[in-house]
Amino acid sequence: MSHIQIAIDGPSGAGKSSLSKAVAKAMGIIYVDTGALYRTVGYFARSRGITLDDMSALVPLLGEITIEVRYENEVQCVYLNGENLGDRIRENEISMYASGVSAIPEVRAFLLDTQKDIANKNSVIMDGRDIGTVILPNADVKIFLTASNEVRARRRVKELAEKGMPVSYEEVLADMIQRDEQDRSRDIAPAIAAPDAIHFDNSYEGFDEALNALLSVIQNALQKESRS
Ligand code: C5P
Repeated sequence: MSHIQIAIDGPSGAGKSSLSKAVAKAMGIIYVDTGALYRTVGYFARSRGITLDDMSALVPLLGEITIEVRYENEVQCVYLNGENLGDRIRENEISMYASGVSAIPEVRAFLLDTQKDIANKNSVIMDGRDIGTVILPNADVKIFLTASNEVRARRRVKELAEKGMPVSYEEVLADMIQRDEQDRSRDIAPAIAAPDAIHFDNSYEGFDEALNALLSVIQNALQKESRS
């Protein structure tokens, strides 16, 4: 049987990861968080003293990086040179580093096979910015998830507070707007919807409501595909 591929793209805080995780559980497939890979490379860049205005200094150091994705108790863990970084990659500053490194073509090429390999070996719901356009262009279902800036910033603030990394709403909102603009306007793999993506507005207050709505969109799309 061939594997199922569900691509979820959209800006930060749209709810991609929490919804994708829940969809993965409901469907018995694997959730792949590709942002974690860029965050890991961003973490490495910062640890080497590379600054946000000189990201290209990372390119000659890429050969020193080994990234491995493992699933432990159904949780995705990303290992950087043998070390599991855990929540350290979630820090607000690392978000900006991730966005910085993700505009470098060599970094995107470096992470391509890791992402494709996981999807070739498993049924997946994979979230990121270029999943429907670049990584899984033939995905069975492509969703482009959005929500208003305010809703997204509130979600990020809550998420970071729950992880013990409190940041103000104003700072998160400003960083988020800057990061989204950077991601959307970059030359390589800009964060835009695939032409055949289904747009899903996740400004829902209740998580279950959003999840049920998304699950039915996905199931309808899968049924339509199996009939065609
Ligand atoms: O999804 P998350 O917010 O963790 O991603 C962090 C950053 O990684 C994004 O702002 C984006 O610049 C980059 N990214 C990307 N392509 C992906 C996933 C993430 O460029 N597929």
